[in-house]
Amino acid sequence: MKHYDYLIVGAGLFGAVFARQAMDAGKTCLVVEKSDHIAGNIYTEEVEGIPVHRYGAHIFHTSNKAVWDYVSRYVTFNHYINTPIANYKGELYNMPFNMHTFYQMWGVTTPDAARAKIEEQRREITGEPKNLEEQAISLVGRDIYEKLVKGYTEKQWGRSCTELPAFIIKRLPVRYTFDNNYFNDPYQGIPEEGYTALVERLLAGAEVQLGVDYLDRREELNALADRVVYTGCIDAYYDYCYGPLEYRSLRFETETLDTDNYQGVAVVNYNEREIPYTRVIEHKHFVFGQQEKTVITREYPATWELGMRPYYPVNNEKNQALYEQYRALADREDQVVFGGRLGHYKYYDMDKVVEAALAMAEEMLG
Ligand code: FAD
Ligand code: UDP
Repeated sequence: MKHYDYLIVGAGLFGAVFARQAMDAGKTCLVVEKSDHIAGNIYTEEVEGIPVHRYGAHIFHTSNKAVWDYVSRYVTFNHYINTPIANYKGELYNMPFNMHTFYQMWGVTTPDAARAKIEEQRREITGEPKNLEEQAISLVGRDIYEKLVKGYTEKQWGRSCTELPAFIIKRLPVRYTFDNNYFNDPYQGIPEEGYTALVERLLAGAEVQLGVDYLDRREELNALADRVVYTGCIDAYYDYCYGPLEYRSLRFETETLDTDNYQGVAVVNYNEREIPYTRVIEHKHFVFGQQEKTVITREYPATWELGMRPYYPVNNEKNQALYEQYRALADREDQVVFGGRLGHYKYYDMDKVVEAALAMAEEMLG
């Protein structure tokens, strides 16, 4: 039987970047993937000629030029800039929080007037914000917190904003300029052919086996390679010996509609609690599609239970402490290394995944 230098568990972005680097260094790779397709969460498939993001909207953005150059070697990125709209009970607001939002919320027309309004509303928070609610109020004041943050966040995470870590909201820019770009990074775009093409090209030359759950056959698979790069859930790897880590799950409802333009923008957030979905994605707008039809996806947050797809790690103190216990076990392994969103139990964006996979490859391959 063929022997490989690396067995890579998971054909997501992390596994694919590592595999590419290993192959470019002359190593052989066997990639096993438990689902029936490659690319993990960034999987896209064509429907009506439109690349549809099967597991939620994915916008590539980074401040790291080396990462941008790296992914651009494999696919061409378009000039898409994410400018989502927030819908609160039929009122439309621009996101992220910027002068357009402040004007729409309060009628203020200058940065000084917006600052004064927020200053007045943030006084209720004294000291370092202890949770997401305090962090949000201290960034944008109570009015914006109530309309655009509270309902959206609580339905997304299934927890009260007072029980969530502050860092989640720090991802969002707050700007005193009229600038609707959701991200601050200098590089941003969507692969014209979809993300699956990126992963396909990264994996070119590797032996990829779909529908194989490593955890069901680990001994037999370990014997096929010198080392293992594992990008599945770290707690599953250790048979949940300290108990399961918590995740947040999602449910997607996708429809093809007989109209060429349903909502005029790729992403509309639905911010009130009463609407069960958090956002509606209109996929064609990611690639400036001109098709006659359109494909939309409603994203519903879902309580995660063992066996469901683990979309988001819930990085609160309890889970972080549990993860540290698993990490201590992982640190003692010599044949296996852990990577990616599930292996590191980290809320990584794609660029951070590429960065981490390149760093691991550099360390292991020299
Ligand atoms: P994954 O994509 O989860 O890949 C892991 C793979 O391992 C999976 O294919 C899984 O099936 C496989 N696997 C697991 N266990 C086993 C096993 N036992 N045996 C075999 N195979 C196994 N990032 C951005 O930069 N921009 C965005 O706009 C953005 N939007 C997002 C929106 C949503 C809704 C979500 C959930 C994430 C978003 N992300 C975004 C983050 C992005 O999806 C991740 O950074 C990236 O996909 C992580 O890649 P990965 O390889 O670490 O994990
Ligand atoms: N958020 C919000 N209102 C919005 C959009 C985002 O309150 O309209 C908050 C929410 O707490 C969310 C966080 O900002 O969890 C990060 O949002 P982002 O869109 O970056 O998250 P992702 O795309 O990863 O779901």
